Amino acid sequence: MRWVETLAHEADFDGFRAAARRLVAAGVAPDDVAWAVGGSATPSLFDEPEAAPVGHAPVTVPAAFVDLCRSVVLHREPQRFTLLYRLLWRLQHEPALRHDTLDADVSQARLMAQAVRRDLHKMKAFVRFREVHEQGAPPLHVAWFEPQHHIVEAVAPFFQARFTAMRWALLTPERSVRWDGTLLEFGPGAARADAPPADAGEALWLTYYAHIFNPARLKLRAMEKEMPRRYWHNLPEATLISTLAAGAAERSSGMVAAEPQPTARRLPAVRVVAVPPPVAADEREAAWIAERQAARQCRDCPLGALATQTVWGEGPLGAPLMVVGEQPGDQEDLQGRPFVGPAGQLFDRALGDLNWDRSIAYVTNAVKHFKYEPRLTPRGKRRIHKTPAQQEADACQHWLDSEIALVQPQALIALGATAARQLLGRPVAVTRERGWHTRPDGLPVLVTLHPAALLRADPSEREAAYAAWVADLTLAERYARA
Ligand code: URA
Repeated sequence: MRWVETLAHEADFDGFRAAARRLVAAGVAPDDVAWAVGGSATPSLFDEPEAAPVGHAPVTVPAAFVDLCRSVVLHREPQRFTLLYRLLWRLQHEPALRHDTLDADVSQARLMAQAVRRDLHKMKAFVRFREVHEQGAPPLHVAWFEPQHHIVEAVAPFFQARFTAMRWALLTPERSVRWDGTLLEFGPGAARADAPPADAGEALWLTYYAHIFNPARLKLRAMEKEMPRRYWHNLPEATLISTLAAGAAERSSGMVAAEPQPTARRLPAVRVVAVPPPVAADEREAAWIAERQAARQCRDCPLGALATQTVWGEGPLGAPLMVVGEQPGDQEDLQGRPFVGPAGQLFDRALGDLNWDRSIAYVTNAVKHFKYEPRLTPRGKRRIHKTPAQQEADACQHWLDSEIALVQPQALIALGATAARQLLGRPVAVTRERGWHTRPDGLPVLVTLHPAALLRADPSEREAAYAAWVADLTLAERYARA
């Protein structure tokens, strides 16, 4: 006799787990079960379409097997449930199986889990949202993607966490999912034509991509391995790849043959900020808001999980000056705004002394989360500032780059070594290198001390140090009056 077990949907891990436990406990051998999904069951003449009986034999499996099942259930292979049930059965009857990595069933399941993990990774990396405007509602961001496996349910929480504050929908041929800010809603599959065409934000992204493309670093085969061609038709930037790749050899030999330029020699061309195409002010603001919202969920380094919140930059888009500090301090972390604590008050004093309005500057930090060490001091529990590690600052770099691209300042002011390093792409000895520098993209950077360094200075030297700092800032006078 064969029992037919029908699961609710293709990725029904919970249903499979419950049914498999019940069948094993009832002593139903793998060959006596047929697995079906939803209404797709096609029982043979000899199949018994009812659920199998309940049994009471104890069922134990290693935790790693449960994890393996979670992934394999998402695989497109129709026989996956049969394979997993056979493995579960064999684990009860062949205790040595859990250590046998060469067993054919085990290897097959592992390969399938690996393929699913790869598919999840690719979907996270290659989904590209496009904005749709619905009357009276905030924009909806819609993306089309063709996963290889049944991964929509499994991947949705990633996008929910990454874009919590955005309304978005992911369309795939088999399933769709929509997030309205509070609820994830799953629905049937869609057609590619249901996704919107390219938008203005995409033009910005393409310009950015073309600017950061480094012909000297092109490794087409490695690139195709990470970004296989089957994903290209959904990636707007893929339209540029062939053209950029075709000209890469010529461009890089041109770079090698070119006369060295004095500034380029000092500055390694590691980061180039795109000059975005002209976009309407409200589109720029919308992009800035979307970036700020996305940064709220950032977990690209461990700091995000420890801080109270992400501290994004503040100030007018289009401000002539962008002032970049190191990272939010204790007060900034609590209030969610840059430069509102003691260092910010000193900065405000300098602006007052210089007679500069705050509106001349967009103020931000190289690192968007407060890094600290909890310490018990005679004055109680304190969060002591810790300098961010290079890896943490690098993880934040893309946020800073996009702020620069969106604000489009005429000049940057780096307060302290962390900001100077992230803006110039090399270590900077601030006390020796105070003054103007130029980035590879031509933006001038005024390097000066961080106000916290003045607060730490010996009280007898503090006023002189402050006066010298204000004198440094005066070098940016022409931008402040622009
Ligand atoms: N120090 C910084 O570098 N940034 C702030 O926002 C506050 C203190």
